[in-house]
Amino acid sequence: MKPLDGAVALVTGASRGIGAAVAVELARLGAHCVITARTQGGLEETDDAIRAVGGTATLLPLDLAKDAEIDKLGPSIVQRFGRLDVLVHAAGVLAKLTPVAHIMPRDWTEAVAVNLTACWRLIRTCDPPLRAAAAGRAVFLTDKVAEAPGAFWGLYGFGKAGQQHLAQAWAAEVAHTPLRVNCAEPGPVGTLLRANAMPGEERDLLPKPGDVAPGIAALCLPGEARNGQVVHLAA
Ligand code: NAP
Repeated sequence: MKPLDGAVALVTGASRGIGAAVAVELARLGAHCVITARTQGGLEETDDAIRAVGGTATLLPLDLAKDAEIDKLGPSIVQRFGRLDVLVHAAGVLAKLTPVAHIMPRDWTEAVAVNLTACWRLIRTCDPPLRAAAAGRAVFLTDKVAEAPGAFWGLYGFGKAGQQHLAQAWAAEVAHTPLRVNCAEPGPVGTLLRANAMPGEERDLLPKPGDVAPGIAALCLPGEARNGQVVHLAA
């Protein structure tokens, strides 16, 4: 028996980076993973990696900036699989590192849509089946800039701060249910997002997505008791 045998997990941002590695880890632990992102080719690569560990996945190409599409997620997963046990929201965009006074409207719109509004819409659509699950678990990928604002990081950081606030408020609201909601702060990880933020950095010297995935997947296990926490994985 694997700890997530029979469970269904929805993983956003699963076409590459941390989301892809978490999906593989959840599948290795027995969950059937519904993997979503915009890039079909990336989802197929994640599917190959999931098969390689003996897992199964359903691919769902989706733009999280399109609100109405998100609203269908919870009901359609329940209709297809009869349950949803785990949500890992790893999708995120850097948008642009820029002074607050120079933020352009189109970058603001993208950052709000992907880093903030999508979080609220995901909570809205996944709350009923996650509450109904015997051991529902939700994990939101956050960043240390959410609690430590710094020059040029405002456009990315405000979405992470807002997402963390929403997740922790939701955690308080479901504390009396079996559902557990936490945020995972992975520290610097060698991904495309990190490379765009720190172009001169040696990516090979950073932890890889597969290094942080087990810590994030651990927050999805039935035995996980923490709720409303920000778990710093690099600590
Ligand atoms: P990444 O490699 O750039 O992956 C980002 C993921 O988000 C991709 O799968 C991308 O898929 C998806 N995504 C972006 N825009 C989307 C949209 N409009 N609709 C649907 N999916 C979208 O980044 P990462 O480093 O793995 O980041 C994962 C999470 O960890 C993010 O929330 C990030 O803020 C957080 N984080 C990362 C680090 C780090 O050092 N890497 C540190 C702290 C926190 P498509 O492009 O295929 O849509």
